[in-house]
Amino acid sequence: MQDIRWSAFWLALTLVFICLILWASRGATTALAVFGIGVSVYLYSHLYWLHKLHRWYKKPSLSTIPNGSGIWEDIFADIYHQQRRHNRSQAQISSALDRFRHAASALPDGVVLLNGEDKIEWCNPPAEAQLGLVLGKDTGQPITYLVRHTDFLRYLQEQDYSEPIKLRSWRNPEATLEIQLVPFGGKQKLLICRDITQMEKLETMRRDFIANVSHELRTPLTVVGGFLETLMDMDGAVPESTRSYFTMMHEQTSRMRRLIEDLLTLSQLESGATVPQDTEIDMSSLLDMLMHEAQSLSNGNHELSMEAEPGITIKGAAEELHSALGNLVSNAVRYTPPGGSIKLAWKTRGREAVFSVQDNGIGIEQKHIDRLTERFYRVDRSRSRETGGTGLGLSIVKHILSRHQARLEIESVLGQGSTFSVVFPSSRIVLKERKIEQ
Ligand code: ADP
Repeated sequence: MQDIRWSAFWLALTLVFICLILWASRGATTALAVFGIGVSVYLYSHLYWLHKLHRWYKKPSLSTIPNGSGIWEDIFADIYHQQRRHNRSQAQISSALDRFRHAASALPDGVVLLNGEDKIEWCNPPAEAQLGLVLGKDTGQPITYLVRHTDFLRYLQEQDYSEPIKLRSWRNPEATLEIQLVPFGGKQKLLICRDITQMEKLETMRRDFIANVSHELRTPLTVVGGFLETLMDMDGAVPESTRSYFTMMHEQTSRMRRLIEDLLTLSQLESGATVPQDTEIDMSSLLDMLMHEAQSLSNGNHELSMEAEPGITIKGAAEELHSALGNLVSNAVRYTPPGGSIKLAWKTRGREAVFSVQDNGIGIEQKHIDRLTERFYRVDRSRSRETGGTGLGLSIVKHILSRHQARLEIESVLGQGSTFSVVFPSSRIVLKERKIEQ
C-alpha cells in the first residue's frame, strides 16, 4: 500500500513538474493540455478497473479475479484473500451441516425441524417412516396438515411440552409412538418421535405379571389369615406359650394382604383400565369421612382440626379420590408422634382448589422429598413397617392425582412437620354457591 501511494504521489508530482516546465517553455495552453491528458489517462485507468471489478462481481470466482495494476492490484489481492477465507468458511459450514444431517439421519429416533409457524424445515428418515412424511414433498408444509392425530394437535396447541405424549400410530395400529416437542431458538421446535411399541409391551408384561402374582397370592393369604384369626379366637386352640407367635403370624399376614391390595390397586391404576368417572364429588361428606378416619386412626392421640371453604366441589372418581386423600391423612397420623396436631384444609388458591394435610410430626429431610412418590421409597423403613405402611401409598396417590390432572406438593422440615397438598386444576372444579376468582 505504502509503495503504491508513493508511486501515485511521484507520478502526480512528475506530471505537475512536466506541466510547469511546459508552461514556462511552451505556454499555459500546452501545459494545460498535457495536464488534462495526464488526468484523463489516470481517470480512465481507474474506470477500466472499476468496470473489471463490476464484471467480476456479477460472477465472483477465485480463478477469474483480475490482477489489476497500481492501487487496483492491491484491492484485487485483498478481495482475493477475503473470497478465499469466505469460501473456506462456507465449505466448513456446509460440511458441518452435512455431518449434522448425517448424524441426525443415523439417529434411531425420528427428528423433525419445525419453523416458527410449525412448518416442516427438515426431517430424518426415521421420522419419514414413523410419521409418514416425505422430506422432498412435505418441506414447508404445516405439520398439522400431515400429523392429524387429535392428541398431537392438542399437545401442539397447549404449548406445555415438558412431558412427551404417547400415541397409537395411525400408520400401524400395533405400534405406539412417543412424541416430544422441544422449543429452541425463539419460536422453532424440534419434534422427536420414538417407537416405544417394544417398551410398552414389556411394561404391559411387567404390569400383568405383578397383577397376576398379587391375585394368586391373595387367596392363599386370605385363607391363612382367616384360619389364624379363627384359631386365635377359639378358646384353648392356641396355647398361651405360643400365642405371641400366632399374633406375629397374624400381623405379618395382614401386612402382606395390605401389600397385595396396594399392588393390585397400583397395577389397576397403571393399566388405566378404569378411567375416572367425572361425577361431582360430595366434598362435605368426603371431608367428614376423612376426618372420621383420622380420628379413629389417631385414637385420641392427636389434636385434629378441619378448615373447609364452602361451595367448592370437584369432578372425579369418588373412590379413587377418597383413597388418595385418605392416604395423606393416614400418613400424617402415622408420622406424627402422640400429642402432635394435624390440620386438614380444603380451599381455593387462585383458580385452583387445594386439599392439604398439615402435621407437626417427624418431618422429612429435603433430599428425600422428590423421591417419596417412588414405589417402596421410605425414609425410615422400620418406622413405616411399624406403623403398618407398605411404601406404596404415595405412588398410589400420585397415580390417582395424575388421572385427575391434579398435582401433589410436599413441604417439609425435618423435626418440624410436613404439609402435603393436592392441587386440583380449575378444569376439575365445579362452582357452587360462590364464584372462584377468575
Ligand atoms: P408408607 O406406607 O411407608 O407410609 P408412603 O408411600 O405412604 O409409604 O410414604 C412414603 C414415605 O414418605 C414414608 O415411608 C415416610 O417416610 C414418608 N412420609 C409420608 N408422609 C409423611 C408425613 N406426613 N410425615 C413424614 N414422613 C412422611
